[in-house]
Amino acid sequence: MSDCLFCKIRDGEIPSTRVYEDDDVIAFNDISPKNQLHVLVVPRKHISTINDIEETDTALIGKMFLAAKKIAADAGYGDGYRVQMNCGEKGGQVVFHIHLHVMAGARTAP
Ligand code: AMP
Ligand code: ZN
Repeated sequence: MSDCLFCKIRDGEIPSTRVYEDDDVIAFNDISPKNQLHVLVVPRKHISTINDIEETDTALIGKMFLAAKKIAADAGYGDGYRVQMNCGEKGGQVVFHIHLHVMAGARTAP
């Protein structure tokens, strides 16, 4: 997707603070963190919303959670964290390339 913010971050066209990457996913700090740890886990493949996930993406979605687990543990929050994925405008989704919010620690924003 040429006009997708997270595709541009994936391709290095827009800067980000990357905390994890592998062949399938990348992860970077949220620009407006709501908690001390607030990382976005993003598949390299462009998928717009949860509603666009297909059967063939099943392993990829699992890998997003494995990345979330590792990121939380490496940041010292392995004993407690939250993950969230919003779907659609009415569900609070702003960037239409699926991403898992991984959040832990004290709140830093309302
Ligand atoms: P959502 O509302 O679930 O679509 O979440 C989008 C998230 O992307 C928000 O938490 C934003 O703070 C975050 N965000 C927007 N632009 C950037 C950016 N350039 N780098 C990192 N995070 C971003
Ligand atoms: Zn994209």
